[in-house]
Amino acid sequence: MGPDRLYVNADVITMEPDSMTTQAFLVTQGRFGYVGSEELVRSYAPPDVDVVDLGGKTVVPGFIETHNHLSYYALTLVMADCTPRVNSRIRDIQEKIREMAGAAGPGQWVLGWGYDDTQIEEMRHLHRRDLDQAAPDNPVLIYHASGHLSYASTMALKLGNVTRDTPQPEGGTIHKDEGGEPTGLLMEPAAQHLVADRLPRPDVSLFMALLPEAILHYNRVGVTSTHDAAIGIHGQGMGTVRAYRELEKEKRLNIRVYLTTLYQRYDQLIDLGLGLGFGSEFLKIGAVKMFQDGSIQALTAALSQDYFNRPGFCGELIMPQAAMDKLVEKYHKEDLQIAVHANGDAAIESVILAMEKAQAKHPQPDLRHMIIHCQTAGTDQLRRMKKLGIIPSFFPGHVYYWGDRHESLFLGPERAARIDPLGSAVQEGLRFTLHADTPVTPISPLFSMHCAVNRITRNGRLLGPSERISPYEALKAFTTDAAYCSYEEDLKGSIRRGKLADFVVLSDNPLTCEPQKIREIRVLRTVIGGAEVHAAEKQAVHS
Ligand SMILES: [Zn+2]
Repeated sequence: MGPDRLYVNADVITMEPDSMTTQAFLVTQGRFGYVGSEELVRSYAPPDVDVVDLGGKTVVPGFIETHNHLSYYALTLVMADCTPRVNSRIRDIQEKIREMAGAAGPGQWVLGWGYDDTQIEEMRHLHRRDLDQAAPDNPVLIYHASGHLSYASTMALKLGNVTRDTPQPEGGTIHKDEGGEPTGLLMEPAAQHLVADRLPRPDVSLFMALLPEAILHYNRVGVTSTHDAAIGIHGQGMGTVRAYRELEKEKRLNIRVYLTTLYQRYDQLIDLGLGLGFGSEFLKIGAVKMFQDGSIQALTAALSQDYFNRPGFCGELIMPQAAMDKLVEKYHKEDLQIAVHANGDAAIESVILAMEKAQAKHPQPDLRHMIIHCQTAGTDQLRRMKKLGIIPSFFPGHVYYWGDRHESLFLGPERAARIDPLGSAVQEGLRFTLHADTPVTPISPLFSMHCAVNRITRNGRLLGPSERISPYEALKAFTTDAAYCSYEEDLKGSIRRGKLADFVVLSDNPLTCEPQKIREIRVLRTVIGGAEVHAAEKQAVHS
């Protein structure tokens, strides 16, 4: 908890509808005290309180990121960086693998992340031979940028007992060549886990070593709360939860974490008698996580119409409808919150259907299930989500990072213009949130807002102008509506007396600056529970 302080001379965006802007606020015992004009707030402040003059800068509630993988991102800090940001050819990636293998020694795992087959000169997937060449004496596993594909070297496949005779797992694919030999490409968690489960479980100490730096990266862009979106994935085990607890005990958990947990792991929590909302103001058990498809750019999303660049193919659901229905009902009946990953409109349809059925059978008055990504939802689907109370969490960075390729490769111009249908969601009166799916894309709520407001692709083109939203709508999706997603709307998401003093000081006002300049706004300070966890430039503190 930070010291009691009086913040004055600020351009405060409270996100409280009846008093949207004001100038000053008091922080006491880690919570907001009086909020209002400087004169009013000063009159209530203790005479010896520290006063911070914010020099007219903008203050917004701390950003709440509702879908990313913080603990997995922490692990990527020590993996080979295979992203297109630093590699243009497969040879560049091989060089990094070779280096890491040399440092690790023979037999040790070499891991990498961020490979994108559509942004590399060769325009193809990695083959196990590429990896074998770079590290003949090490098992190698590389994750695709989407997270939905992995590439295993021959030695890694061997450790995972993946051979020509391995049957295809339900909901995943072991890619095999014409002769029936695995190529190393593993699609979707069911197949990825065959090898990932052989990795040495990252232990608590590794997470303890990496998480503080990863959290600092989040703080620097103004994130004060996050959903860690698939606890237990990619061979992570539950060590990450233990590490979060340790950090909290040591008062080093500089972020509030909502543990969205894979359903296979959630059952262990239920067995312990724990469930939704259990925990503290810093660490809470969140939603049950499931997947119903993969990613459009990996061609593993389930669409209702064929992929633009692959006629006759529209992807597949991960679970048959009956299995999805059963699983959703199981957790819905227990009054748990469910978050299902669905990108393609066929997968979205399947999830809505399952939730409609569960709700009809066991009506829950306060349903807040989430559909994660919800990238190609149709208007009718948005309408049904609104009716049921489902909250879509959109990934507006799709437009920037993949919009051009969605148009030319995966979806074609018509469907590409409608990805991340935020404008339609606003029109339908739907509550929604935004996210960056880090490490799939770098964490940055302001950049996500920028994408949602401007819809400019990497090639500088405007994609689907009618789906743009206002900066206010975008900010709501990172504050009040995001707090609602974790049942914490009375605790955070706006600057109001009694709420947690989580806030961010910005170099400019995102609601009044040029919309195209939102991405240039800098985060000057990030404060959690009254304690400063990031400061770009110190301003005078005087009393
Ligand atoms: Zn994700």
